[in-house]
Amino acid sequence: MASDRKYVCDVAVIGGGISGLVAAVRCAQGGLRVLVLERQSGERYLCNSRLSAGVWHICASDVLEAPAVLESKILAATGGEADPALAWMVAHEAARVIDWLRTLGVRFMKGPYAYQRFVMAPPAVSPQGAAWEGRGPDVALQMLEEALNGLGGSLLRGHRATGLETRQEGIGGLRGLTQSSEPFEVRAGNVIIADGGFQSDPGLVREWIAPDPGRVLARNSRASSGDGLRMAQEAGGAASDLRGFYGHLLSKDAAWNEALSPYPYLDYLATAGVVVDAAGKRIADEGLGGVFLANRIAARSGPGDHFVVTDQRIWEECGTFRMTSPNPLLARLGATMYQADSIEAVAGLAGIDASGLASTVAAYNRAVANGSTAGLDPERSADKYKPWPLAVPPYHVFPVLPGITYTMGGIAIDAHARVVTGTGTPVAHLYAVGCASGGLEGGTRHGYVGGLVKSGVTGLRAAEHILGIPA
Ligand SMILES: Cc1cc2nc3c(=O)[nH]c(=O)nc-3n(C[C@H](O)[C@H](O)[C@H](O)COP(=O)(O)OP(=O)(O)OC[C@H]3O[C@@H](n4cnc5c(N)ncnc54)[C@H](O)[C@@H]3O)c2cc1C
Repeated sequence: MASDRKYVCDVAVIGGGISGLVAAVRCAQGGLRVLVLERQSGERYLCNSRLSAGVWHICASDVLEAPAVLESKILAATGGEADPALAWMVAHEAARVIDWLRTLGVRFMKGPYAYQRFVMAPPAVSPQGAAWEGRGPDVALQMLEEALNGLGGSLLRGHRATGLETRQEGIGGLRGLTQSSEPFEVRAGNVIIADGGFQSDPGLVREWIAPDPGRVLARNSRASSGDGLRMAQEAGGAASDLRGFYGHLLSKDAAWNEALSPYPYLDYLATAGVVVDAAGKRIADEGLGGVFLANRIAARSGPGDHFVVTDQRIWEECGTFRMTSPNPLLARLGATMYQADSIEAVAGLAGIDASGLASTVAAYNRAVANGSTAGLDPERSADKYKPWPLAVPPYHVFPVLPGITYTMGGIAIDAHARVVTGTGTPVAHLYAVGCASGGLEGGTRHGYVGGLVKSGVTGLRAAEHILGIPA
């Protein structure tokens, strides 16, 4: 359909989250005319960046650790499946992105843990539900937009990109629809995809993440539905391994009780106790962490429920870890939780097969006592999260569902954030940044590297490649 809305620019950016705005501002600093298209229309549209806790880390480590150490942590977290070039780029560039954001006035402060050296200020984590207004990430996005405007660029709200325009020399622009369904076209020298991933597209989630997307809770802004991935693939770009998401275990009641998402999550209970299905059987290695467990639950087919089981000691110690701790928030916020003085009794209350759970817990406790949890089926590793015995009544059971924050896989890119084909050849003038891009995180261990650091580094790299600044 012909469009009356036509724009011309040097760089068009699809998505106004942190990755898109970093790329846009950096391009504008280099004197390029930049247009950011953002599908949502609100002044402070809700993207994952605005909802973020604002902690800049790499694999839950301080970004100022030696780059070689950070690189090896990324490879270890992903079971060696991260693209080494992307691991190198993130490990070496993270600190520079933070310095660059500071030059724009973005403020950071220290958090209570060593890996939280750079937390966007004022801090955003709230003990319950989402509280983002006026917090660090919200303020930073406003600053980036102001900087963009000051450099002559602009952010068009209510403009959803739907397709790329290809010219002889490569990608030459895009087309889309406004919120009132009017078509628009952008002629651009380069296009940067920054749409945040595909977590809100049930079809893609069903194909790659969970056979039943209805049993995965949205722990995100619900604004990223894989438009960028589809557009890149239509233009010849490849996808990375698309399995895997960053997310956490949430109370099942978060499906209807908004106060239970994005916090408190139950990861520190799950990684101390056991995670079972309705038959009372363990379903995965709890020692690989909450992100891994959320992925394993999501990937299981069938309608059955899943449960975290702990004893009183875990509830009192691991349950109170961090300000968003499940103890006492779950009870205060009305989450379903069962408690009884025996495993059989608590299983009965929760609707778990009582003899199944009793024999699981007995075998688990024996293995914990003699240090042989690696021999359990499934294996229970002990190097990252110590297995605690389930021995002190009352016992607790929490029905859980996986909550998806963002998809870890995405558009295949190289170390300049250029979109590449299946053979690694760049698609000319097309870039993908932030959670639209893949290849850094995930793998069979669902390794989480860090959404902000990935977004900042890829955003900066894409812009500097367009500007001809060497890596
Ligand atoms: C509760 C929560 C806490 C988090 N805490 C942390 C943390 O402490 N540390 C950390 O590293 N990471 C954290 N993250 C993850 C981090 O926020 C994200 O990884 C990061 O912000 C992603 O940035 P992005 O620019 O890729 O995507 P987003 O910020 O999601 O931006 C994508 C934008 O693209 C727009 N869009 C989508 N499709 C189109 C289209 N077709 N056309 C135009 N626009 C489009 C969307 O509306 C959206 O505004 C957290 C996330 C959440 C939800």
